[in-house]
Amino acid sequence: MGGVGEPGPREGSAQPGAPLPTFSWEQIRAHDQPGDKWLVIERRVYDISRWAQRHPGGSRLIGHHGAEDATDAFRAFHQDLNFVRKFLQPLLIGELAPEEPSQDGPLNAQLVEDFRALHQAAEDMKLFDASPTFFAFLLGHILAMEAQSWCLQHDLGHASIFKKSRWNHVAQKFVMGQLKGFSAHWWNFRHFQHHAKPNIFHKDPDVTVAPVFLLGESSVEYGKKKRRYLPYNQQHLYFFLIGPPLLTLVNFEVENLAYMLVCMQWADLLWAASFYARFFLSYLPFYGVPGVLLFFVAVRVLESHWFVWITQMNHIPKEIGHEKHRDWASSQLAATCNVEPSLFTNWFSGHLNFQIEHHLFPRMPRHNYSRVAPLVKSLCAKHGLSYEVKPFLTALVDIVRSLKKSGDIWLDAYLHQ
Ligand SMILES: [Zn+2]
Repeated sequence: MGGVGEPGPREGSAQPGAPLPTFSWEQIRAHDQPGDKWLVIERRVYDISRWAQRHPGGSRLIGHHGAEDATDAFRAFHQDLNFVRKFLQPLLIGELAPEEPSQDGPLNAQLVEDFRALHQAAEDMKLFDASPTFFAFLLGHILAMEAQSWCLQHDLGHASIFKKSRWNHVAQKFVMGQLKGFSAHWWNFRHFQHHAKPNIFHKDPDVTVAPVFLLGESSVEYGKKKRRYLPYNQQHLYFFLIGPPLLTLVNFEVENLAYMLVCMQWADLLWAASFYARFFLSYLPFYGVPGVLLFFVAVRVLESHWFVWITQMNHIPKEIGHEKHRDWASSQLAATCNVEPSLFTNWFSGHLNFQIEHHLFPRMPRHNYSRVAPLVKSLCAKHGLSYEVKPFLTALVDIVRSLKKSGDIWLDAYLHQ
């Protein structure tokens, strides 16, 4: 037993420069009481009785290693060992006597040694270094899942999940209000008009965007009437500035608030308020007021990009104009195209790539679109209707192309007609 007869100091640190007192395990074992805890790390003995309360991982956690060798736990939990050792220094009261084993109790010394060698090998192989790409991908995935809640509330809005409409509406209020901060009523008010009369001016709110953008027939009309509120021949460029970045952040926010107040949708207002309460309470402690506002804007801008590109790729490049009083199938097909299905596209767009099927059968659960698609195709073939399907990237580029085309038509009419 080393250090026999040496009274081990109970409190305070070892004197710098002085030889450290030595302890046996028998002496250390006594210090595993509430308010009296010693532990051993790398053969050094520390008195953590008082300091345990300040341990960032909690006093219980560090206290669980009272009177034990905590070397492996110390290495396992702490990222920057040199930084943590600075906190240990004032707690040092001695070291294990030379003839004492590194660990007390019925331990397999060979296993302890081999495990430490393995830990070191893992360190040497840099296995504790995180890959930024991996976690960036993970973050991207989480943000993409955010977009998925738009898809889910869309399913619920169409009452396509539960047999009883009531449950769809209750669930939609939660998803749209609590997860997205918007009004389910407002969404349905807009979106059902879009479904009823897709790409028809003053009936479909999605294409009633003049005088900011000129789509379809409005470009000739504006040109002929010499209206030039904006440089419409450049609309495919300013689209990138005010379209994808700002739709949900500015347009949807303002429209939602106005809708809820004017239409007295108090329940929706409470749901939306619950989103803001959750968001700001969650992040205020970490980022402060300016930080959390910036974060909110960043999230909205990001989701807005997803929203614009995914929801417009199926409609903007198609026929857009005034009411023609066509039958349901013809009017939906004239205004809608599909995007080639793939596991990724189906997931990323929330099956909105099957837009034709969605528009013909808005209440159909979207996992069944691929099953009805061949039947729709043969109906189109039989009646000479266009069933247009394009690759994903082409569909995105076509949004910009159609904006440019409308802009050019406007300019031509403006200058020459
Ligand atoms: Zn829809």
